[in-house]
Amino acid sequence: MRATRATRALAALYEARPDAALSEAEVEAALVEAGAPVNKVTVYRMLDRFAGAGLLHKQVDAARVTRYARAPQGEEGAAPRFECDDCHRQFRLPSGSAKVQSALKQVLQALATAGHESLAVDIAVHGRCAECAHPAEEAAA
Ligand SMILES: [Zn+2]
Repeated sequence: MRATRATRALAALYEARPDAALSEAEVEAALVEAGAPVNKVTVYRMLDRFAGAGLLHKQVDAARVTRYARAPQGEEGAAPRFECDDCHRQFRLPSGSAKVQSALKQVLQALATAGHESLAVDIAVHGRCAECAHPAEEAAA
């Protein structure tokens, strides 16, 4: 992957915000802020390149917005996420216990045994985030 200024800025963005699941527009705005502005097409191309390299995980939220989150690294395994159905922000959850991870591994192994390939686990919990569910309390705090 050619390390252009924008590519480095994109990598730095996800390093600084490892739990973020960003849309193209959010990434584009962040790159402008980082002093590495690129057009929409280039942002999409970079995101797809990162996703293709396994660095980012592409997902579509409940509002059908494509978001890119940092792919789980090594032992982290499949990272469950929580998505707020009101504001559509995503929160990465702790990977869960070893028991959950080993259960997932068994499921994946069973699928692989059945001949399925390119398996990706996507665990999403939907609901309302604390800010949307309790706006008054949030303001009072
Ligand atoms: Zn919310």
